[in-house]
This record gives sequence, structure tokens and C-alpha cells, in this order.
Amino acid sequence: MGEIKKDIRTLSQEGIIAFFESHGEKAFRAKQVYQWLWQKSANSFEEMTNLSKATRELLNAHFEFKQLEVDVMQQSNDGTIKNAVKLHDGAFVESVLIPTDKRITACVSSQVGCSLDCTFCATAGLKRMRNLDPDEIYDQVVVIDRQGKEHFGRPLTNIVFMGMGEPLLNYNNVLAAIDKITDPKGLGMSPKRITLSTIGVPKLIKKMADDGVRFGLAISLHSAIEEKRAKLMPLAHRSTTLVDLRESLQYWYAKTGRGVTFEYVIWRDINDTEEDAVALAKFCGAIPTKVNIIQYNPIDNGPYTQASQSAVDMYKRILEERRIVATVRHSRGQDIDAACGQLANKTEA
Ligand code: SAH
Repeated sequence: MGEIKKDIRTLSQEGIIAFFESHGEKAFRAKQVYQWLWQKSANSFEEMTNLSKATRELLNAHFEFKQLEVDVMQQSNDGTIKNAVKLHDGAFVESVLIPTDKRITACVSSQVGCSLDCTFCATAGLKRMRNLDPDEIYDQVVVIDRQGKEHFGRPLTNIVFMGMGEPLLNYNNVLAAIDKITDPKGLGMSPKRITLSTIGVPKLIKKMADDGVRFGLAISLHSAIEEKRAKLMPLAHRSTTLVDLRESLQYWYAKTGRGVTFEYVIWRDINDTEEDAVALAKFCGAIPTKVNIIQYNPIDNGPYTQASQSAVDMYKRILEERRIVATVRHSRGQDIDAACGQLANKTEA
């Protein structure tokens, strides 16, 4: 019987042109369709009102229009919104909208679950695992842009790849999604407003530099002492040593001219001594860097606790003495498990 319908969103503009030409339609119609898909974020063919009914029916007959479904939306008392997003195969990912006075930031997922085993992160406990397609990443951004306008009267301004998953282990799809997000024919967002956060895979950091990416890079460091990082992030340690990581960051800086941000949680009795802070400051010396000290967000049954304020102040002092900018990032959305490291599909039925 009927052919299996292809998802229209997997086609390039050229692909849609070819389809239209083979069905006796004008090429410029394909451009209109592409605009509806990527610039205007349409939800159905019916919405494409500058196409004739016959053209819309032609599209309906040949293509599927897959949409992400927000299964559960929760709002924190600080305004943060967490979406449990249901994918076409029934799997779930979470994405978060973080509002501040100046920004609406989308924190998006790149994988269902995560193959890493960072001992302080709730996502690591999830069994189910697959890479997200480019449109599944893109659609999380579209959903949050819409929610920004609806709940705060403002569009999305920034994107961080700090949701579920390790973006560099889904390299091609993440970069394809970012291409669409930054393409003037897509959302047209500046790459400067996008940050990819990673445990740091040296050969892929070098590949990004070679590929000429223009977005920002953040590395989840958490310790600049090899044995300690190995305990905190066992798989990260198996894929790289700090020496190789450092070398790849120098390569990145030489090629792109841009520094990186280190993400760093300070835990009591784990990495809260002067020796830890000095090791971090030295590691930062390799290239221009900024340190984001992230507050620890407790996860169920986790063995860790947030370090004292005096330990945080000690880190700041040691970094500032070496002219390294360190900011302390307070968590948002903790009450709904939407903060860094807390995304674990708890609402999944
Ligand atoms: N895999 C990527 C992106 C996802 S994690 C990466 O590792 O960078 C986003 C950030 O949250 C990372 O810096 C991660 O180390 C941090 N994080 C994980 N669990 C956390 C927790 N319980 N509290 C605070 N930050 C956490």
C-alpha cells in the first residue's frame, strides 16, 4: 500500500525544490515551505497559509510533520521552566528555560540519557540511551523560544548544551542542529550566544577548532588533579588525561582565538583545599579562561555535599590573585529538579 512518509524536516531546501519540481510546482514555493519550517516554526502544513490548498494537500500526501510533544511542563518558584519532552519513539528528554532580567536561556539535551558515569550527576543513572536527531535538538529550542514569549514576553536569547547527554559524543547531530539554529534561513541566532558544555574529548575539541565552529566552549573540569578527576568522572578520565585536555585547549585557542569557560563544583572534603584551588589556577594558565563555580545540586542518595562558603571564597581569592575571572553561579530550578545535574526523567511514567 502507501509509501512510508518521510519527515519533511529531514529535507534540505534543495530537497524540497527537487520534490516540487518533480510535481510541477514552482521552486519558490519550496522556499516558502522551508521558511515555514525553520523560520516561522510552523506546526502543520495547514498553517502554511501562503500555499494553495492543493499544494498543502500534496505535501500532506507525501510527508509526515513530526513534532515534539511537551509531556509535562513544571515551573519553579524562581520562574525556571522544565519540560519533559516526549520524542517520536516514546523516549524522554528534559529541557529547561532559565529566565533572568536580561536573558532567556534554553538548556537543551543532546542525548537520551548519557553514556558517561559522572558520580555526582543524576543523568548518569539513566539506562536508556540514544543520540538525538538534529531536529529533536532544534525543536527543544523552538519550544523554549515560544515559552519565553508566552510566559515572559521575551524571545530566547541564549542556548547552553548543558541538559542531558554529552554533546561531543553526538558530534554530527549537535553541529547540524547548531547550523540550523544559526542559519539566517533557520532561527538566525548568533553563535556567540550558544555554549557547548563537555567533559572534554581532546580529539573532538581539535576537530571543532578545525571545523571552524563559532560557538562558545565550556569544559566540566571539577578537579585539576588527575586522580581526583578520575574518581569524580571515571569515563571522562578514560577518554582523556588532563595533560591531553590541556593540549587540546591550547590547540583550540591557537586556531579560534577564543578562550574557554571551566565549570567547577566545590564539594566538602573532596576538592575544597588550597591545593585544589592552586591546581585549578595553574590549569587555567594554559589559555585565557573564566571559571564558573557552580553550586552543587544534591541528587538522590548522592554522597556529596556543597563546600562551605569559606572554601568558595578561598577559591575566588586564589583565582583572582592570578587574574582569573571566577563567577559563582547560583542554581535555578532546584525545587523542580531542573538544575544542573538533576535531569533524570523523574516524571516519566
Ligand atoms: N555532558 C556535558 C553537559 C551536561 S552537564 C558536560 O559534562 O559538560 C552540565 C553541567 O552540570 C556540567 O558542568 C556538569 O558537570 C554539571 N553537573 C552535573 N551534575 C551536577 C550537580 N549535581 N550539581 C551541579 N552541577 C552538576
